[in-house]
Amino acid sequence: MSELLYLDHNATTPIDPEVRAVMLPWLENEFGNPSSVYSLGRRAAAALTAAREQVAALVGAQSSEIIFNSCGTESTNTAILSALAIDPDKRHIITSAVEHSATIKLCEYLATRGYEITWLPVDGGGRLDPQKLEAAITSETAVVSLLWANNETGILFPIKEIAAITAGKKVPLHLDAVQAAGKVPINLEELGTQYVSLSAHKLYAPKGVGALYVNRRARHTPLLRGSQEDSKRGGTQNVASIIAFGKAAELAQNNLLSNADRIAKLRDRFEQTLLSSVEGVRRNGAAEHRLPNTSNLTFSGIDAETALLLFDKEGLCCSAGSACSSGSINPSHVLTAMGISRDEARASLRFSLGRTTAEAEIDRALEIIPRVIAKLRAAKPAGGSPVHVTAAS
Ligand code: PLP
Repeated sequence: MSELLYLDHNATTPIDPEVRAVMLPWLENEFGNPSSVYSLGRRAAAALTAAREQVAALVGAQSSEIIFNSCGTESTNTAILSALAIDPDKRHIITSAVEHSATIKLCEYLATRGYEITWLPVDGGGRLDPQKLEAAITSETAVVSLLWANNETGILFPIKEIAAITAGKKVPLHLDAVQAAGKVPINLEELGTQYVSLSAHKLYAPKGVGALYVNRRARHTPLLRGSQEDSKRGGTQNVASIIAFGKAAELAQNNLLSNADRIAKLRDRFEQTLLSSVEGVRRNGAAEHRLPNTSNLTFSGIDAETALLLFDKEGLCCSAGSACSSGSINPSHVLTAMGISRDEARASLRFSLGRTTAEAEIDRALEIIPRVIAKLRAAKPAGGSPVHVTAAS
């Protein structure tokens, strides 16, 4: 078995050893319910308070504005539905064509319930034009929901301009900061958005825990009703994972800028080397205004899903710009929205570096990737379509 070479940190992150260490007591002797009045429960409640402060500090919010829940997807669903509940007569939602499925699937569902959805386009670099947002807002608009950073390309949307526009038009704004948090500085007090989605597992904490920021002046309608989280999200809290989330937020905040700088330099070396040494490689997304860790590349003529299987044999984990569903390969909606052809999207790979990614790992990736790409291209029938093998083959 080859040593793991993990370049898929936008999919999920390993649990940081310090995060694991603070989490363990809460899986062992400290098993109290934070709603219980005896000291075992009160200790759990106090630990949740501390974690809330840590997560709030990462995003420049007040701790009373952080609601813990099960994941980023729950946060996004809660935020959009909360905004819709403010004025049920308003039936127009604005989002973009490159959102995460959490937003897309909810909006598609809401469209079947009579809501009108505006899917804002992006340009070839994955960028959103704030003027297009401004022009799309009408008196019927109930909410604007947009990514802070794109999970596939890393492109950052112009959040300040977006927030200024929605504030001017008095339309609630939800931002999906699941990929942005911990990778770029976030100051929600300054920004003044109404709702922000966060998820722990992109931050070196466990899966299955998230948080929704709700501005103290915004209206919140719980998705799950119950008395926990100040009656804003019912269900006994996932204490150990929330404490892990808090520690992870603190670690992410420490040295955020220097970590981002180191990772960006590594990513740039990785990307530049492939662009200059392998033929038929193109970067997807603008070079500027993107997450420091993400590189999305098209290797013309290859089948990305097959590349993933060959990389896996060498221990290298990354993602494809396509998703296999019901036996067919669907090209990424993010890449096709950027004007990239379906074939090119199927030949695209996302590499996402992490806090622990080392120079030597990038060297190893730079040895594996050109070799696998050459092998795939050599296997391609002359003039034919790229060889595709399924996971079963
Ligand atoms: N939003 C973005 C941009 C994401 O990348 C993800 C996870 O991939 C989510 C939302 C969903 O987060 P979770 O997996 O916690 O539901």
